[in-house]
Amino acid sequence: MVHINEHFLKLSENYLFADIAKKVSEYAVAHPEADIIRLGIGDVTRPISKPVIQALHAAVDEMGNAATFQGYGPYEGYNFLRNKIVAHDFKARGIKMEADEIFVSDGAKSDVGNITDILGGQNRVAVSDPVYPAYIDTNVMSGCTGEFIDGQWSDIVYLPCTAENKFTPALPSIRPDVIYLCSPNNPTGTALNKTEIKKWVDYALTNNSLILFDAAYEAYIHEDDVPHSIFEIEGAKRVAIEFRSFSKTAGFTGLRCGYAIIPKELTVKTSNGQTASLNQLWIRRQATKFNGTAYIIQKAAEAVFSDEGQRETQATINYYMENARTIRKGLLQAGYKVFGGVNAPYIWLEVPEKGSSWDFFDKLLNGCQVVGTPGVGFGPHGEGYFRLTAFGDQQRTIEAIERIKKFA
Ligand SMILES: *Cc1c(COP(=O)(O)O)cnc(C)c1O
Repeated sequence: MVHINEHFLKLSENYLFADIAKKVSEYAVAHPEADIIRLGIGDVTRPISKPVIQALHAAVDEMGNAATFQGYGPYEGYNFLRNKIVAHDFKARGIKMEADEIFVSDGAKSDVGNITDILGGQNRVAVSDPVYPAYIDTNVMSGCTGEFIDGQWSDIVYLPCTAENKFTPALPSIRPDVIYLCSPNNPTGTALNKTEIKKWVDYALTNNSLILFDAAYEAYIHEDDVPHSIFEIEGAKRVAIEFRSFSKTAGFTGLRCGYAIIPKELTVKTSNGQTASLNQLWIRRQATKFNGTAYIIQKAAEAVFSDEGQRETQATINYYMENARTIRKGLLQAGYKVFGGVNAPYIWLEVPEKGSSWDFFDKLLNGCQVVGTPGVGFGPHGEGYFRLTAFGDQQRTIEAIERIKKFA
């Protein structure tokens, strides 16, 4: 008989975006003249910057010439890109990091999911809630989550993030082995400041826990006391892995490139008391299951770090953050309680009277023809909240907010 990983059977299909699409298309059929504005998308919309496109073209031409052709690359990434990452993301911020602590990949989602390969199925896992769904689902697959009962996994330690605690999760009463943190956060759009992140690093150092830190929205940080990297915190190299991505930073959601930072100082004790390096385990894992990110994509990513690449990338981020300001300001004027949107392209609003987030979805679609995402889709503590994204067109975003203001 064939054995399958039966943990997969515990996963329900992710209906959130399918349910949204169904409701929107039903509404469009019933109201063919309706001008629907979508502020629910979690994907970028602005084109790739010129220097990146030029680098792509040049790399394609190199492939067509025997003298410059590239075959298999290093599975941990080309040094031309790893060195730029070290210089731009770490050295420039006064953080010591070496190229062999950077692992280039085809995106942060792959890394966040694949990391469970080297952690095994015995860990007690903590996640902030609401949360990017991949953290939980990948742990379901590796058997760390127990059973799904009344909307929660029995073995997951949920760290509630709500308006009451200003979206800064409290330390858990049960010690987790692995802790997922995402700052700036998807879906809440809020970010942890230096004191808050230090609290978690100190906890992990004291309790021998591992922090998996998702910094996919690092480029959107505007406030000075919000760290861009967990490695800005003393001691973090001994307890944390960081995930980064060119997706939201430079529009690479379709091109695909991200990277994981696994410091050489990061070790864990095995069951028989030996010391294991996670950096070494990850090299071994990638060498076995991954043959590297495409050369042309890594050349494109390198161009993000050029002066012109940085200027254009920043201009696009400013475009989205102008939308975030429009949404925040308009919703506040309309009397909503609004969070996020300062260090991230997401606005998290409290549903009036903490009502059902799906009811609010229906209200907004029927009353304003504006589409967002019900908070409960991101976890139990997302109920009573609603997510709008700043990735849309500027004029359409203004129009959507004018409609919501009138409606309120
Ligand atoms: C979009 C996103 C990512 C990036 O994923 P890629 O695979 O690099 O496109 C990672 N984490 C979070 C929380 C995200 O929202």
